[in-house]
Amino acid sequence: MKQSKVFIPTMKEVPASAEALSHRLLLKAGLIKQSTSGIYSYLPLATRVLNNIEAIIREEMERVDAVEILMPALQQSELWEESGRWSAYGPELMRLKDRNGREFALGPTHEEVVTSLVRDELKSYKQLPLTLFQIQSKFRDEKRPRFGLLRGREFIMKDAYSFHIDEASLDETYQQMYDAYDRIFKRVGLNARPVLADSGAIGGNHTHEFMALSEIGEDTIVYSKESDYAANIEKAEVVYTPNKKDEAPLELEKVETPDVQTAQELADFLNKPLDEITKSMVFNVDGEFILLLVRGHHEVNDVKLKAYFETDNIELASQDDIFNLLGAHPGSLGPITDKDIKVYADQSIQDLTNIVVGANEDGYHYLNANIDRDFKVEAFDDFRFILEGEPLADGSGEAHFAEGIEVGQVFKLGRKYSEAMNATVLNDQGKAQSLLMGCYGIGVSRTLSAIIEHHNDEQGIIWPKSVTPYDLHLIAINPKKEDQRELSEQLYEQLQQTYDVLYDDRKERAGVKFNDADLIGLPIRIVVGKRASESIVEVKRRDNGESEEVHSDDLLQYINDLYEQLN
Ligand code: ATP
Ligand code: MG
Repeated sequence: MKQSKVFIPTMKEVPASAEALSHRLLLKAGLIKQSTSGIYSYLPLATRVLNNIEAIIREEMERVDAVEILMPALQQSELWEESGRWSAYGPELMRLKDRNGREFALGPTHEEVVTSLVRDELKSYKQLPLTLFQIQSKFRDEKRPRFGLLRGREFIMKDAYSFHIDEASLDETYQQMYDAYDRIFKRVGLNARPVLADSGAIGGNHTHEFMALSEIGEDTIVYSKESDYAANIEKAEVVYTPNKKDEAPLELEKVETPDVQTAQELADFLNKPLDEITKSMVFNVDGEFILLLVRGHHEVNDVKLKAYFETDNIELASQDDIFNLLGAHPGSLGPITDKDIKVYADQSIQDLTNIVVGANEDGYHYLNANIDRDFKVEAFDDFRFILEGEPLADGSGEAHFAEGIEVGQVFKLGRKYSEAMNATVLNDQGKAQSLLMGCYGIGVSRTLSAIIEHHNDEQGIIWPKSVTPYDLHLIAINPKKEDQRELSEQLYEQLQQTYDVLYDDRKERAGVKFNDADLIGLPIRIVVGKRASESIVEVKRRDNGESEEVHSDDLLQYINDLYEQLN
């Protein structure tokens, strides 16, 4: 393709609001244009890369017998009522009405649609297993769209759904998908690590996320250097080994703690280490208030809280609710109260004797509170985030942390949707049995960004050859000069037989062309310049900058050999 005919609006400066490197490079190299917050147009170069990523995904999906379909993005609310998600999904669901006032959603995911599709068509276990996939735009009204394509409100997803008669069949497809994901991310040039993840409060019992390691990742991965253990920090289990000091219980004592708000301020004020004091937090769990006690240096993990109480409906109680209930504000709360509120505690609280807790009176705390003597604990459990250096659940050593971008997820859904929506087939006994399901997502547009996060330098993008928008960048330094123009056009004709070539025939200065070429980042650049009269061109690798002069007669062979070596 001639560059003069392609639409590549490169930019010198990008808005300061573009924080992520991939976002800046996508804008600078002219790949995307923002339409409005979290919503983008994909320009020609991005479209080509997306096509390449999607081609790899399609190949790998077909290898595991997943078949492609395309379902509607516009989904009637009745389907969502059936699964219970019309009310459960919350404000992320984009809702709209048709001219008759009938309600719809723009699909954020397709469990409901696909379940209704197969329940009408599948009759017998003999038609199973079945795996369907599609590649399509999804819609989620994200609270904080950011980082360009990494968190958009309209984005491209590959989603697949599998249907089974029994666990063994679901397990097999899950493993095949897991392996396919491994191959897909390797092939597109991403170092994506599968990590154990939380399956949410309702539905599903087993899930892995694929995390591309990256500093700007919004997820923290907890991993082992000794084994292949890796888990999302939301999920990473804390190993509790009792470690109670031999200490005599002292008499409960109320002390004034003026202006103390945070755990650190309290520790400083009382001159005690942070891990010896406690924090009390009040949560609203499905309409009932509970008080949760953790140690000063620990943070509450709300995902574990949701899993423990088996509900998604948990939030921190409001200041007003807390004051009405306990007569004090956060900063002075504690478990010693005659009010009707159950106390739960992180398991490590059991190690403490003579505990510092809030007195439920603003500006006061108790010293020497003791479990059972001064307050009751309903249950101790793992309610907090693991800390770096703590022992890992698989016994392989200590926890290390890394940041990652979730590019994909595989999920055993079980019977959540099939039971709610009555999707059954006849089993080998001729009885109706609800389907077992798996679902498998890849953020295609997010993957595009993640690839750029991994493959770049100060000058711009460095495309892996598997997804590059064009293979070769042919540049005529001065196409007004006849020998340069002629040689360039001749090479353009020749190379196009084997490669996708972007031919920079623009009447721009050499410096502009070179800058754009670095920014766009095609794997190999061929420059036709001063030595065109001798049929000599320069060939330069984008990844390591190495260049060589090559005679045009030898060029094709030279490029073939070089291209073979590239990643
Ligand atoms: P996140 O935790 O990042 O919000 P999610 O777990 O809600 O993502 P899934 O429902 O698992 O996302 O969707 C499948 C894939 O779609 C994700 O693994 C991710 O790669 C991609 N994805 C999800 N939300 C977005 C978004 N707002 N923008 C771009 N890609 C997204
Ligand atoms: Mg996910």
